[in-house]
Amino acid sequence: MIDYQAVIDRILAEVRNLDCRGRVADYIPALAEVDPNHSAIAVDMLDGRSFRAGDADVPFSIQSISKVFTLAMVFPEIGEELWKSVGREPSGNPFNSLVQLENEHGIPRNPFINAGALVVTDRLISMYPRPKEAMLDFVRSLAGNDDIYFDSRVATSEREHADRNMSLAYFMKSFGNIHNDVERLIDVYCHQCSIAMSCADVARSFRLFANRGVNPADGRRVLTESQSKRLGAVMSTCGFYDESGDFAYRVGLPGKSGVGGGIAAYIPGKLSVAVWSPGLNSYGNSLAGIEMLERFTTDIRRSIF
Ligand code: GLN
Repeated sequence: MIDYQAVIDRILAEVRNLDCRGRVADYIPALAEVDPNHSAIAVDMLDGRSFRAGDADVPFSIQSISKVFTLAMVFPEIGEELWKSVGREPSGNPFNSLVQLENEHGIPRNPFINAGALVVTDRLISMYPRPKEAMLDFVRSLAGNDDIYFDSRVATSEREHADRNMSLAYFMKSFGNIHNDVERLIDVYCHQCSIAMSCADVARSFRLFANRGVNPADGRRVLTESQSKRLGAVMSTCGFYDESGDFAYRVGLPGKSGVGGGIAAYIPGKLSVAVWSPGLNSYGNSLAGIEMLERFTTDIRRSIF
């Protein structure tokens, strides 16, 4: 029997000793000021056991991990039609790239690059009169934590530095692929990026995917088993932008990263895992976070492959 607590304690200690800190995101002051020495691992088993190491209860900015939550809200509503507005292929480009959109007629490659996430959030706005509240309710219900909040300082400075995301949104609107007001869309998108959650919260919320679409916290089915499978497939091919192939090679799990330094991943039918280390590599993924996850799947000898 695997001693998960011993495994994650050892990995955290080992990785803290390595010189793999990376660069903290600095496009907004609220992220640039985060202490790069934070590190954490949280594991939640579907049998109810949970394991924590390091700063697992310290909230951080989930950033692009939120793109999975918005997709999990929109996909069941729109169904397969969604893939007419956003693709499901890796982009091979950075997360905020504009280059493919013109040739591909305003249809983003996948829902996890910024352009694709903006389309998904646009559809979320069409679904809910109060989309920000709906989003917060959703993640709170998954994590079983009503204290999860929007970090208003992060949201405000995201909004002040949103020129590129505004460009993506206006450009897609010119192709008819954004339906709502762009200012409103960017406001909601900046808020989703600013959601603050701890590693423990993120791991708990990703049990939804490990549990094939049923939220273990309340037994409610959120995604059909097929939708959960499909969402996992997109995470494993596109969850780490143009580093998705390398993540599959090294870690072998579906997952999603954010520029706050968090990564969430899971093993279907078994467990969810979240790691946090704010230093990023050149792809915008947590450098030590990937290292921790590679050691984790190697140690427990489980992955999806
Ligand atoms: N707020 C960031 C952006 O929109 C999120 C990017 C990320 O986490 N990769 O550019």
